[in-house]
Amino acid sequence: MDHRYLDWPFFDPFHRSFAREFGEWAAAEIPKCENDEGGDGKAAREIFERLAAGNWLDHSLPGNPGAKGDKHDLRTLCLIREILGYHATIGDVAFSEPWLAVMPMALFGSEAVKKEFLPGYLRGEMLPAFALSEPGAGSDASAIVTQAEQDGDHYVISGRKMWTSNSGLADAYVVFARTGEAPDAGGISAFLVDGKAAGIALEERLPVLPPHTVGTLCFDEVRVPAHRLLGAPGQGFKIAMTVLELFRPTVGAATLGMARRGLDAAAARSLERVAFKKPISEHQLIQAKLADMAVKVDASALLVYRAAWLHDTGERLSREAAMAKLYATEAAQEVVDEALQIFGGLGVKKGMTVERLYRHVRAFRIFDGTSEIQKLLIARDLLREYKGKNR
Ligand SMILES: Cc1cc2nc3c(=O)[nH]c(=O)nc-3n(C[C@H](O)[C@H](O)[C@H](O)COP(=O)(O)OP(=O)(O)OC[C@H]3O[C@@H](n4cnc5c(N)ncnc54)[C@H](O)[C@@H]3O)c2cc1C
Repeated sequence: MDHRYLDWPFFDPFHRSFAREFGEWAAAEIPKCENDEGGDGKAAREIFERLAAGNWLDHSLPGNPGAKGDKHDLRTLCLIREILGYHATIGDVAFSEPWLAVMPMALFGSEAVKKEFLPGYLRGEMLPAFALSEPGAGSDASAIVTQAEQDGDHYVISGRKMWTSNSGLADAYVVFARTGEAPDAGGISAFLVDGKAAGIALEERLPVLPPHTVGTLCFDEVRVPAHRLLGAPGQGFKIAMTVLELFRPTVGAATLGMARRGLDAAAARSLERVAFKKPISEHQLIQAKLADMAVKVDASALLVYRAAWLHDTGERLSREAAMAKLYATEAAQEVVDEALQIFGGLGVKKGMTVERLYRHVRAFRIFDGTSEIQKLLIARDLLREYKGKNR
């Protein structure tokens, strides 16, 4: 993997040595799983445990002694996801899904919750999952209908969650449910629910294009101790949006890794495949494709690491995070599509790297806010700025 971009001013010496060390580890550990398609979730769990054993999960918890600084260092997290995305999508899934779910605990959990759950996560023994989406609420997450009613020192949760990662396998779920302090977004709270709690049932596993183990969960009067409320009552929507915004540049980073892999594979293939008596790399239409792909890879990297750098240097990042996610996920799809085209018929042969990338890259334009939702976020932010200027 080409690491010359680490010389860009977004990075400091820590990131350069981190990328080298983690890159070496990932190159040795991850490719053996690259053809795993998720399904039963076993491979992702195994990778999660190996990431823990290598102490790489340390970087996903702010203020952890093994991490850089006392808040999330998004550049490090983007590097992790880019490198994993390069080697195998399932490696990225194994890291990112538990990380998304552990963030509400680390950022909004009580000291007791942190003490109880975070050490197990760092050891790779506590696999958490994020349960926000529902059959009737995806992009409009404020429309969730799962209910949580207080009953003494417990809350009782009832409803259905769809698309939950590691459904039926997770040791704990971060569940967003309606507690009714206010209508819509203001009446949602976040809870940490034991994966084995009575009343949780896996209704259906959802077979999907990428190697994600997602499913629909049914919560039937699941009792949750009140101290497992994350943040304050009614703060759940804000918690979800905070962690999803932090996650956003790293989603772009994962697809950046996939795009780099596609470009590497296509460039190598173009040098060896002969058509019309010369390597196809000597045909100018192939060169044009490779040039367009390289521009998209660099533009994605610039947007991803700009957003991460902004966060790490203390700036708000909503517009830049959305731009990074929107552009990098869309561009990766185009890069991978052209990589497959350069492989000709072999590109669609099952088991080829570009065939795998082609299937795996698609869903990244949908979760953590679809491309359409990212455009709305960008436009909302910039219009707010223009309205301010016109006053
Ligand atoms: C592989 C995978 C893993 C996932 N993992 C998780 C997880 O771990 N936890 C979790 O909670 N969820 C998860 N999700 C769910 C994901 O977050 C949702 O799929 C996503 O938010 C979109 O919601 P939806 O599928 O209901 O689409 P909808 O919201 O129904 O959208 C359908 C279409 O309408 C468009 N649209 C919606 N509103 C607007 C608008 N205002 N303007 C213009 N267009 C609009 C959308 O962009 C989309 O194209 C996962 C999804 C996938 C595919």
